[in-house]
Amino acid sequence: SQLYDYIIVGSGLFGSVFAHEMTKVGKKCLVIEKREHPGGNIYTEKVNGINVHKYGAHIFHTNDEDVWDYINQFASFNNYVNSPIAIYKNELYNLPFNMNTFSKLWGVKTPQEAKEVINQQIEASGIKEPRNLEEQAISMVGTDIYEKLIKGYTKKQWGRDPVDLPSFIIKRLPLRFTYDNNYFNDKYQGIPEGGYSKIIDKLLENVEVKLNTDFLDNKESYERMAAKIVYTGPIDELFGYHYGKLEYRGLRFETTLQNIENYQGCAVVNYTEESVPYTRIIEHKHFEFTKTEQTIITKEFPSEWKLGDERYYPVNDEQNQELYNKYRKMAKSNEKYILGGRLAEYKYYDMHVVIRSALNSVRKELEFE
Ligand code: FAD
Repeated sequence: SQLYDYIIVGSGLFGSVFAHEMTKVGKKCLVIEKREHPGGNIYTEKVNGINVHKYGAHIFHTNDEDVWDYINQFASFNNYVNSPIAIYKNELYNLPFNMNTFSKLWGVKTPQEAKEVINQQIEASGIKEPRNLEEQAISMVGTDIYEKLIKGYTKKQWGRDPVDLPSFIIKRLPLRFTYDNNYFNDKYQGIPEGGYSKIIDKLLENVEVKLNTDFLDNKESYERMAAKIVYTGPIDELFGYHYGKLEYRGLRFETTLQNIENYQGCAVVNYTEESVPYTRIIEHKHFEFTKTEQTIITKEFPSEWKLGDERYYPVNDEQNQELYNKYRKMAKSNEKYILGGRLAEYKYYDMHVVIRSALNSVRKELEFE
């Protein structure tokens, strides 16, 4: 008979929630993780008294009350509210685009005045049917916001000129006609006190975990050891890139210790002009209101992705989506496998959505018993 009910490949949020829930109902689980630490991309590490978000800044936000209750079992969340700022040519603007932004841009005071400026610019552009990302953006927010706050940032983010990018990348550009700098509209928001890794450690408390172990090195023997495999790694890699590689956008982080208490006064500062090579500077201590004499900052440089690099943003264009669908079909034909999470489903997935998805997948499994 088999040693495990489930072997779970990957200790990110999906794998950890799945393993936790199954262990709780008496299933025998083994988590296999190829990195030297659990947690996947939400992993945080304490350095000089500051929790550093190692794979990019993570802010928890959700409207899903069940998910909020669920995650609060494993951490207590602080009242951090994400209010990033943007710097363009030494001028500072509030994000998301709101009355503070409009007032700084044009000296307007009322929503009516702001709407007038924006509508005039949209009209003057004469764009009826946007043919690319640039036209799409201008037709929604006008030329000033586009030129100062979107154009350079997008060009850096995607490594291509916005006129050469498809319009579908930007479906919505929310404009807010109130003086409200809260980036998210969700009911619940915050950062887990003590970092995200604490959540992962609690989820995996009673679960057997093997670190530094690549499932694909011994795939067949793991398949013999378990009734089912929950795979949260890259779907194309699982099938040996049979149809080709799914593309991603990469990110390079440059993290430094600064000998001052407060570097930028804000956790997230976007640099929206093209000539600054990074897109954002993250100052980690502000997520948890940490009091230390020094500070740690991370500059984020978007980069071309090649096999072997960390996968950050999936490039969900038609070509890649078609490729993904082929792999998905292959996966569906093997009943031993459950695929879940951002890499196996090839999509950008916020944390609260991943939790919901893992819980659904657990429920579906237990239904069939
Ligand atoms: P992952 O965390 O990637 O976990 C997959 C795990 O599988 C990894 O640990 C990997 O090492 C392991 N693995 C893969 N292949 C193998 C193998 N063959 N053998 C063994 N192990 C393997 N969400 C928010 O809600 N708010 C945010 O502010 C936010 N910011 C983000 C910023 C960035 C830059 C990015 C990229 C994402 C952000 N997210 C945010 C999304 C968040 O990171 C994801 O929702 C979450 O990490 C997904 O968890 P996962 O388990 O699906 O994948």
